[in-house]
Amino acid sequence: MKVALIGVGQAGGKLAEALATDERGRRAVTDVLAVNTATVDLQPLGIETLLVGEARANGHGVGGDNELGARVMNEDVAEVVEEVDVGPECDALLVVAGLGGGTGSGGAPILARELSQVYDRPVYALGVLPGHDEGALYQRNAGRSLKTLAREADSVLLVDNDAWRSAGESLDEGFTAINERIADRIGLLLAAGEGVAATEAESVVDASEIHNTLRGGRLAAVGYASAESSDQADENVTAITSATRNALLTGTSLPDATTAAAALLVVAGDPERISRRGVEAARSWLGDETGTMQVRGGDAPVDSDRLAALVLLGGVERSDRVQSFLDRASDAADRDTGEDATESVTSDDLDGLF
Ligand code: GDP
Repeated sequence: MKVALIGVGQAGGKLAEALATDERGRRAVTDVLAVNTATVDLQPLGIETLLVGEARANGHGVGGDNELGARVMNEDVAEVVEEVDVGPECDALLVVAGLGGGTGSGGAPILARELSQVYDRPVYALGVLPGHDEGALYQRNAGRSLKTLAREADSVLLVDNDAWRSAGESLDEGFTAINERIADRIGLLLAAGEGVAATEAESVVDASEIHNTLRGGRLAAVGYASAESSDQADENVTAITSATRNALLTGTSLPDATTAAAALLVVAGDPERISRRGVEAARSWLGDETGTMQVRGGDAPVDSDRLAALVLLGGVERSDRVQSFLDRASDAADRDTGEDATESVTSDDLDGLF
């Protein structure tokens, strides 16, 4: 799936750069832009950048004020849209941001809304949720931003900052590593069907498989795991089923998000090693485990002697993890979450940003 990629804020810019320069990700990214209110955050990036909100922020950022981030984006959004090159080959737009800060948290929903009005293609977001040890302001910002972004984007792919952090790694020192993991996995998903001849893969993951999976709901997550494999496909049934199991149960970007409206299983590896029986068993297990009848699938030819499973889950808003995050954000916003927390992504418990 080819995407035009726009990173908003510090995390957004770094992630957009990581994805656009990732070995596989770059096959899917047709244009990339980093937008920020802080000059210092744009300077180190090796991609095209745009400073916004100079009149209000003077190049110094908006601190953690996401309402100001939203106002600034609202004023300069036409300029941002102008800078993004969305060619006919583009299947979707992808807005990337850390939801706990100011510029990305406030700016991403405004930008998603504008892009949806300008283009007739889906506008997706990749939103980073703050780790559990980040402060109340981050939690509250992320809750309000998520609620608004879920309304404005076609789907928000969530990555919890606690999910792909290695044990013992502090969040700060871990950012580079986390960003590489995100870029690697999202890059694999986006590039799975790009540049693949139909003869090379038994079933190609085209953009419509991703669109249809994401259409299952407003929030999405992705899981990943790999396993050792034999050079004989028929010996790799277990490798595929166990990688799929681990991708869902321990490898998702949103831990414990195991209930979904739709799922897509991408099996990555040497096509000669991919067991069809393994793929069928893994897809069937995935449907049972996530509670959906809609399990799509495809292969991603990758030159490796391991096999990997990448699982895209569409419609994860009812999962415990999303609810506990929204509760945490509501608590931080000093509000009662109400009795039915499962509705908080659409309820009024947490104020949207606009
Ligand atoms: P902004 O520049 O005002 O949009 O703020 P940030 O992008 O710094 O957003 C802050 C949130 O993003 C916090 O929850 C941070 O933990 C997270 N964050 C900041 N930088 C990174 C990064 O490089 N990678 C990841 N994964 N998260 C980040």
